[in-house]
Amino acid sequence: MIPPGETIGILGGGQLGRMIAMAAAQLGYRCHIYAPEADSIAAEVSAQFTCADWDDREAMASFAADCAVVTYEFENVPVVPLRSIAPVPVLPHPRALETAQDRLAEKLFVSGLGGTPAPFASVDSDADITAAIQQIGAPGVLKTRRDGYDGKGQWRIGSLEEVSSLDLPSTPLIYEQFVTFFGEFSVILCRGQDGDIRYWDSAENVHEHGILSRSTVPASAALREQVPAARELAAKVAEALDYIGVLTLEFFAAEHGPVFNEMAPRVHNSGHWTIEGALTSQFENHIRAICGLPLGDAALAAEGVVMENLIGDDAHDWATILADPANHLHLYGKAAARPGRKMGHVTRLVL
Ligand code: AMP
Repeated sequence: MIPPGETIGILGGGQLGRMIAMAAAQLGYRCHIYAPEADSIAAEVSAQFTCADWDDREAMASFAADCAVVTYEFENVPVVPLRSIAPVPVLPHPRALETAQDRLAEKLFVSGLGGTPAPFASVDSDADITAAIQQIGAPGVLKTRRDGYDGKGQWRIGSLEEVSSLDLPSTPLIYEQFVTFFGEFSVILCRGQDGDIRYWDSAENVHEHGILSRSTVPASAALREQVPAARELAAKVAEALDYIGVLTLEFFAAEHGPVFNEMAPRVHNSGHWTIEGALTSQFENHIRAICGLPLGDAALAAEGVVMENLIGDDAHDWATILADPANHLHLYGKAAARPGRKMGHVTRLVL
């Protein structure tokens, strides 16, 4: 067990790191943020900040020397430099990062455990695109295998003819069938060092332009029927990776059952509602797990919860949001609003 008072290292400096650091502070831990960008909103609420590139081994080694355990809030942290962190534990284990960083590896891994992703094919050339569309059919989605997030690095393909007009990168891609779904949901679990697994209620997620816009708990009855099978798969993923901490799997609720979309080896935007809406939040249980503490109860703390993301530079009337006693406002302290940038969220409890 890592006792309160020790320092937790967090790789990545965004809002997820900020909320992990705030939960760590509640339990008496100090946090040390490592991020390449100087304007880290996680560092603002943490004791220490190392601003350095991911491959700066000296900076990484001295960061690690200050930490009792290291975790991450960003799944695109390069894995190789993390070797210089040893013997300080990195949790969840970097093998989870490796799996989740590549959409092809991730789908193969999850299929191997009995999960059902949309039919997919690896695309490394123009000929591969043609073959993939012929084999899988259209419509479909072409995605970069690595570094995509919030709908970035994705192209909807209506037909083979459309491909020639696209300006595609020369990086490895994956083509997947467009799934006809009646809802989207996530399974968020936390696995402790003793193998204990806690699940939060699955939120029904609505995306706009590939970005999460709203998460609602409880999800519709039709969608809730698909949760047990999805949880079973998520538990297999967690066990296969000997996973410690919070893990998220995203699913499409389709006619014949849950279709696996992607996994995130970290706390997740669709779990922000757990801060006020669950007995223990995803952030607190993540800290408890990586520090070897008993996990807290993940049960709902209200009749229902709705979390809305505040995205981009839309004008938001904070006073009106705060005047409603059911609302909890979270602002991430980001300086510049840009289209598609997550600036904060509002959690509304149904009591
Ligand atoms: P992703 O970054 O892969 O999670 O994609 C972001 C969002 O795009 C998803 O939550 C869906 O709303 C949509 N999307 C991605 N892939 C597919 C697909 N194969 N079929 C239908 N919708 C998709």
